[in-house]
Amino acid sequence: MFGLIGHLTTLEHAQAAAKELGFPEYANEGLDFWCSAPPFIADNITVTSVTGQKIEGQYIESCFLPEMLATRRIKAATRKILNAMAHAQKHGINITALGGFSSIIFENFNLEQFQHIRNIKLEFERFTTGNTHTAYIICQQVEQASKQVGIELSKATVAVCGATGDIGSAVCRWLDAKTDVKELLLIARNQERLQQLQDELGRGKILPIEEALPQADIVVWVASMPKGMEIDAKVFKQPSLLIDGGYPKNLETQIQHPGVHVLNGGIVEHSLDIDWKIMNIVNMDVPARQLFACFAESILLEFEKLYTNFSWGRNRITVEKMEQIGQVSRKHGFRPLLVES
Ligand code: NDP
Repeated sequence: MFGLIGHLTTLEHAQAAAKELGFPEYANEGLDFWCSAPPFIADNITVTSVTGQKIEGQYIESCFLPEMLATRRIKAATRKILNAMAHAQKHGINITALGGFSSIIFENFNLEQFQHIRNIKLEFERFTTGNTHTAYIICQQVEQASKQVGIELSKATVAVCGATGDIGSAVCRWLDAKTDVKELLLIARNQERLQQLQDELGRGKILPIEEALPQADIVVWVASMPKGMEIDAKVFKQPSLLIDGGYPKNLETQIQHPGVHVLNGGIVEHSLDIDWKIMNIVNMDVPARQLFACFAESILLEFEKLYTNFSWGRNRITVEKMEQIGQVSRKHGFRPLLVES
């Protein structure tokens, strides 16, 4: 059995989704209510691989909302994640992905030190951040979607916003080792970590976002921002490719500018329909087939009976592990979401 721990993107989203989650009476409740709500299993899932193998899973709604971070309700936010993990373990789930902000909260607030949740001792090897598969899929999107929109990587400048993060640093490692990308622009706020990444890669230009965006042919957005940024579409080159892997989205603006192609980042499409309701609730374009790559990682680990925290900690994702998860991703019928033709 695999598990997915997820959350909704805003209070408004949670209120709108309450009915579909099976709790119409929550629709008018405010942030205080969501701060005290316990985790619950919102969906039972069956996934079939193209190999014919069939597995079962469950979606656990943690009731975390990004507004909890924005309003400094840190205790509520951390409780949501630990309680959701305990809930997954109590239900005997072998491998559970910590979706969206769940793993960011786990890492940023050192939740590894809180192993005892009531009568449960959390077994961390039952959880994965899903970030190795997410980083792999984003790199595939860079490589394949750039061709679709006529950008040649050997002549392209790629800006990574959130470059020092777990996913961002893995994307930089892959682009450096496996592609002939001409230039990498590294964007984040903490200069020391940017310097460390630049030293590790032996390349990459550290730039503030306002300077990087107009120079980039491709922008990979993987910053952990509770709310998206509003950016004037005119700053981007034409053509350019914007791959937004944030959850919630890093880009607030609905960009409708000729030549500026926006792609949902870190999303995979399965070759077969999946019977679930959760991807309707998070507004996927093709809810029966599209899902977050981090969720797909726990599905892949269950298919392969690889019961281990495949992605764990921060900035430890190697190109070899990305290749390994990529190979099983293809084997079971997943492919990266590309630009619609
Ligand atoms: P991390 O916390 O490891 O890294 C976040 C990065 O963003 C850091 O480099 C951080 O650096 C940077 N950052 C944060 N705020 C800003 C800002 N305002 N401006 C510029 N840079 C900023 O996060 P992850 O790598 O785990 O996740 C990144 C994103 O990917 C999140 O939005 C997450 O929800 C999403 N995600 C998507 C998945 C999918 O399946 N599609 C799966 C998992 C995560 P600094 O603090 O120095 O600025």
